Amino acid sequence: MATNEYEGGLKMIEELTTNAEQIQDEVLREILSRNAGTEYLRGFLHGQTDKQLFKKNVPIVTYEDLKPYIDRIVNGETSDILLAEPITGSGTSGGQPKLMPVTAQVAKKWELFRGLYESPVIKYLVDINQAGKRMELMFARPEVETPSGLMATSVTTSIFKGSGFRASLPKLYTSPSETIFCPDPNQSLYCQLLFGLIQREEVVMIGSFFASTVLRAIKFLENHWQELRYDIKTGRLSHQITDSRCRNAASLVMKPNPEQADLIENICNCKSWDGIIRKLWPKARYIAGICTGVMRQYTAELEFYSGGLPLVSSLYASSEAFCGINIEPLCKPSYVSYTFLPNMAYFEFLPVKNERDESIEMKSNDEDTELVDLVNVKPGRCYELVVTNSTGLYRYKVGDVLMVSGFHNNAPQFQFVERKSVVLSVDMEKTSETDLFKAVTEAKALLNPLGFILTEYTSYADTSSVPGHYVLFWELKEKEGEHCKELDPKIMVECCFKIEESLHYTYKIYRKRNIIAALEIRVVKQGSFEALMDYCVSKGTSLSQYKKPSCIKSEEALNILDSRVTGKYFSPKSPL
Ligand code: AMP
Repeated sequence: MATNEYEGGLKMIEELTTNAEQIQDEVLREILSRNAGTEYLRGFLHGQTDKQLFKKNVPIVTYEDLKPYIDRIVNGETSDILLAEPITGSGTSGGQPKLMPVTAQVAKKWELFRGLYESPVIKYLVDINQAGKRMELMFARPEVETPSGLMATSVTTSIFKGSGFRASLPKLYTSPSETIFCPDPNQSLYCQLLFGLIQREEVVMIGSFFASTVLRAIKFLENHWQELRYDIKTGRLSHQITDSRCRNAASLVMKPNPEQADLIENICNCKSWDGIIRKLWPKARYIAGICTGVMRQYTAELEFYSGGLPLVSSLYASSEAFCGINIEPLCKPSYVSYTFLPNMAYFEFLPVKNERDESIEMKSNDEDTELVDLVNVKPGRCYELVVTNSTGLYRYKVGDVLMVSGFHNNAPQFQFVERKSVVLSVDMEKTSETDLFKAVTEAKALLNPLGFILTEYTSYADTSSVPGHYVLFWELKEKEGEHCKELDPKIMVECCFKIEESLHYTYKIYRKRNIIAALEIRVVKQGSFEALMDYCVSKGTSLSQYKKPSCIKSEEALNILDSRVTGKYFSPKSPL
């Protein structure tokens, strides 16, 4: 990005946020006037495009409500039953992939969004005179043909296929498109790391969409650096890489480079991998990857490898809409908020009662609660995001809970609170992702004296026996450079108790009354969460969009973790 481009981006952010209300109205007007004739909207608006009528008549929906329409399109009916613009394919989202219409606008909007979220990063972090490349790890998903001949893939894949993005690849990124489109995620990652290492002197950023992917890449490197070093030394790609397009791409740039291979060996051979990212990519200025929400559990480990490079969480986006950008990229991950861009979609907000937000009186039925417009949300309050866009989603609940942290001009800024759907529950109690995160954070501190760190966790509500109980799967790792003691069962039992003690009041009362049985921690072998990810990817989740589930719902996923359990521990007593 040239100086004038990023300055143009910053100027545009100011304009958009200043005129947020007017732009939102225009966005809605345009969506309604284009789509008023669709079968879906006609049913509610009878061909009219009035905002008040839209607010009164169009229902708030979830994916399940729209699924019958999407299924009809997938089975061959024309897409204008739901949206006017022709669709170019369908995108998938979420752990259990959902099909959604995708139009040519998606990739174009992304280009605009990218220009905006990158502008503050460039302002604060990149020396504009220092040309450099981004080692951004990207994974396209193979397309699957639906019965009507539409091609379904992930929304990130549609973005990678966009012409603007493809044109920028060779100049700005280290990964050639052949590696991004390689159908085998491990071969893809190997090759992307190889290209990133070959160009290590030029790399100014290391990143991926989510922080967890960057961490996975570093762990992959820990296991494969010797092969990569050998490839660089000899100028020949490992025979393990069988994808012909990757092999061709590599053959164009690889030549024997023993000096570079020696340098890499010296760095990787060090006992400690503390700060390895900065050592391997000496010109890197930052690490990019979303670090909020379910990703915050990865920040501590990533900081260890980063060597002090800032972790930048640039954007808040989903398959439904590109929503907000971080205009203060140097902000610590736990304080990051996202400024909503009013030109990306029409945004509404459903007030949500939250423990930090006791003041709100909620009606018993969410649907009766008035939705609030973007510019009218109140600082300190929590809301569930509702999106209307030009790809057939009208008043669609994304499932994310956000808290207003302030305003930039007239556009609100939100902190990500949690995914609404992720709750553990064995009776009437509800435990959110945030509740769990806080409790686990308290408990894992007890592992410090043993020299272990918690690298991954997830949860599961076990109701196979009565009363049901919470199960947490923990993957542990020995702290670097420390001589680890045995995993002391007494401490693990204490961890179980600490979690119970740190959970909310309802949980504790239910435990006391034996409505919930003792919480259990199942320690799993190292690599178990990688196996879980491989499984989700094999079932259709894109590696670029993979977010580890906070709570296990499928039996297969449960079996993957259960088959790798090395120890089970239970809380010894009720926390009240
Ligand atoms: P997908 O539907 O696979 O595109 O994933 C989108 C979801 O990822 C969002 O609805 C959020 O739950 C999560 N997500 C995206 N960006 C962020 C962010 N900056 N912080 C926390 N969670 C995020």
